[in-house]
Amino acid sequence: MDCVFCAIAGNRLPAHRLYEDEDFVVLLDIFPMRPAHVLIVSREHAPLLKDLSGSARERLLGLTERVALALRSAGYGVDGLNLLINDGPASNQHVPHLHLHLIPRRSGDLPRLLWRLLTRFLPLGRGRLEARLQRQAEQLRDVLARSS
Ligand SMILES: [Zn+2]
Repeated sequence: MDCVFCAIAGNRLPAHRLYEDEDFVVLLDIFPMRPAHVLIVSREHAPLLKDLSGSARERLLGLTERVALALRSAGYGVDGLNLLINDGPASNQHVPHLHLHLIPRRSGDLPRLLWRLLTRFLPLGRGRLEARLQRQAEQLRDVLARSS
């Protein structure tokens, strides 16, 4: 089997998709650090930012800003968002295929963020989380569709 993000980009795996274009697929992280944790995943299998084609690399920041605005207009990360690329295995890059994280933050949520860093891959509360992911995906898909 090829890498998980190649499989999602090729529609061979399901995902909570929010938006797609010729270069990127935007989806919810199924192991969210905070609510409405979004990933922008490149269509091409580029392990690191330097491996991404120049045109996609140039588009990435514009799309990131559009997704950030959509998150904020849906009420997520109004006071702060972490925009993050883990570029290489020593940086906690769990899937070696370029993806940019948008992590909505709230004032005072650092203890929760650190707790999720330790527990996010444990199979706790998956049913409730799945229902939340579906609600967030529907909401954000609508906002992004209106922002095109
Ligand atoms: Zn890949």
